[in-house]
Amino acid sequence: MSWKLTKYELDNQSLLTNESLLSLGNGYLGVRGNFEEGYTDGYKSIRGTYINAFHDETEIVYGEKLFGFPETQQKVLNVIDAQGVQIYLDEERFSLFEGELLSFERNLHMDAGFSERIVHWISPKGKEVKLHFRRVISFTAKELFAIDIQVEPISVVEKVKIVSTVNGDVANYVDKDDPRVASGHAKRLRVTDIRQEAQFSVVKDTTFTTGLEVACLSTSFIDAENYEHSGVVTESSVEEIYTCKGDSAIRFTKYNIFTDTLRHGENLVNEGEVLLHQVRDKTFDDLLAQQQAYLDEFWAVSDIAIDGDQQVQEGIRFNLYQLLQSVGKDPASNIAAKGLSGEGYEGHYFWDTEIYIFPVFLMTNPIIAKNLLLHRYSILGHARERAKEMGHEKGALFPWRTITGTESSAFFPAGTAQYHISADIAYSYVQFYLATKDEDFLKRYMAEVIFETARLWADVGHMQHGEFRIDDVTGPDEYTCIVNNNYYTNVMAKHNLLWAVKIYKLLEDKDIDRLRQLSTQLELTETEVDTWQMAGENMYLPYDETLEINAQDDSFLQKARWDLKKTPAEKFPLLLHYHPLTLYRRQVLKQADTVLAHFLLEDEQNFKTMKNSYDYYEEITTHDSSLSSCVHSIMASKLGYSEKAYSYFSETARLDLEDTHHNTKDGLHMANMGGTWLGIVYGFAGLRLKESGLYLSPSLPVEWNSYTFHLRYQARVLKVHKTREATVYTLIEGEGLGFTHNGEAVLIESGKELVMPETSN
Ligand code: BGC
Repeated sequence: MSWKLTKYELDNQSLLTNESLLSLGNGYLGVRGNFEEGYTDGYKSIRGTYINAFHDETEIVYGEKLFGFPETQQKVLNVIDAQGVQIYLDEERFSLFEGELLSFERNLHMDAGFSERIVHWISPKGKEVKLHFRRVISFTAKELFAIDIQVEPISVVEKVKIVSTVNGDVANYVDKDDPRVASGHAKRLRVTDIRQEAQFSVVKDTTFTTGLEVACLSTSFIDAENYEHSGVVTESSVEEIYTCKGDSAIRFTKYNIFTDTLRHGENLVNEGEVLLHQVRDKTFDDLLAQQQAYLDEFWAVSDIAIDGDQQVQEGIRFNLYQLLQSVGKDPASNIAAKGLSGEGYEGHYFWDTEIYIFPVFLMTNPIIAKNLLLHRYSILGHARERAKEMGHEKGALFPWRTITGTESSAFFPAGTAQYHISADIAYSYVQFYLATKDEDFLKRYMAEVIFETARLWADVGHMQHGEFRIDDVTGPDEYTCIVNNNYYTNVMAKHNLLWAVKIYKLLEDKDIDRLRQLSTQLELTETEVDTWQMAGENMYLPYDETLEINAQDDSFLQKARWDLKKTPAEKFPLLLHYHPLTLYRRQVLKQADTVLAHFLLEDEQNFKTMKNSYDYYEEITTHDSSLSSCVHSIMASKLGYSEKAYSYFSETARLDLEDTHHNTKDGLHMANMGGTWLGIVYGFAGLRLKESGLYLSPSLPVEWNSYTFHLRYQARVLKVHKTREATVYTLIEGEGLGFTHNGEAVLIESGKELVMPETSN
């Protein structure tokens, strides 16, 4: 049951939310769960098809533009609409909003990789019909979006007409009142090629500014006794019209191939033709079988099975499935904050990738994780340029939000000032190294990224009274901007700097030629490496002696505290109701900041400090950002607050399914989705990856009977099954492994099981 998400609603608000929930994607292409035929007059829809990273550039208009403000930003585009299919029964157009609906349901099959709509309907004039719509965005042929429709007339119908459309006249969605959604520049594409060939139709669009092109090649088949076929080409759309006798069931299938200049070059139409040729002989059932095979493999390692809570189980599977659908799997792409499910945050990539999503793939599907790192590597040149532009002599400053690698954030206090993203990226490279021990990757990519980001910290900070300090940055909490010595930033920078030193030494030992080559390329000297060491070792980490906590930054604890208990419910999220300064002047958090640092780098502080910090910051954290609850859940698990751990975790598992942030219509909250997985694996099961190895300390929420998940770690697959009585480890793949269970060093042999009884219960 929990493999299938089912929806019945037809009110406009639910339809909009369900467009995101029932979206399909494969990391390259994404299509929202719109109805082929559209809704009814007066209903709003965000009808969308997206290609990861396919964007246009738009001008950023400032009231006062100062030096170094980005002039343009990128925006992912809603591309050619191939969803359109109208069905007519004796000239009456099928619409769920007219006539009588005998039954209606929509399903997203997360185990099988398709969505469907099942309808039993009587038209206003009494024509009864059963319709079955199915859709696939192929995981194996990434350019393919297929629709299959079965039309089964129940009453007498003379004629069934099917009109299938591909429409190039498309625009993005705008909402002027929500800063998390674009406020302008809706139309960015124009049709530059449109025609019908004997076997397929072509619609090609070109962006206004960047000149990028996207093409959709579409072909359709009809399985009917007798039919007539015709085509219509207008300025912006192509139509294929099939008129069939209505005395038997009809099956209509449409294959759409999307290509774009980012991946397919200038010959995108010819490439599309080749790809179409490759898939057109496959039946829709063949496609379903391929999806099934792909997903069987995916779930074998990625699933988390929960015994004891169906609601949470559904939430976890949904979240993992949507991450898989949205994560970029080619070097041109990463994963956007809303994935491929909507237009919120304009398709930009944030630190969400490294801190919330990357670990999920790292531990279950490292090939995808590696691609995310390679994407960051591919924009290292832009990060170097940005560092220069920001006044740094050397180093790389990664953009806060971007598609192509240049900074797309217009509001620098909560954008560019979040320098921590560079340390977050470095952190994810280190985690990759710890999980894979891939030295080839370290030499080819990682060393350069870690060196260049370390340089940034060395340049942005300064020594004073024996301490290395970093001024005027913003930490993860966007309700506190431009501060000195944000604890999170400083401790992550320290990690970055000291790892740069470690990698330098490692290369010195293992591959001096590569080190020489890199040093020449980067003009890197040993003296510079010494400064990294000095900066890292002397990094100032704010600590308040009275409260015995790490202060979020130098001035945070001097500010007035915001009383969240007295804040009316309708004032949340605060960012939509208060000027930023009102928020910056108070002790109030949008999201976990110091608490997150304690999770990522727990060995920097003792348990008591982390506990005190948690208690302190929890009271003033709004969790207005969906990136927050999972972190509080993980740290609550660590600190032994099991009820809190479960309650914060529950907020993440069904955040989009229940639309608790009231903006799921704009797309799914990808970071939070990763956070659900983190909440179990890093939270309840206590996973940590350290230089000293793999750490686990599984606990079981009282609400559950057991849970099971798998980890990939250094060429092994380890199954973890936690019950009330014990933790049962099984080493499914790979050589024997030593790791730490509840603080105790243990060893598991290849193919064997290791049972660790619960001691505290
Ligand atoms: C959060 C950021 C996050 C962004 C995109 C904002 O609301 O504060 O931390 O990166 O959303 O998800």
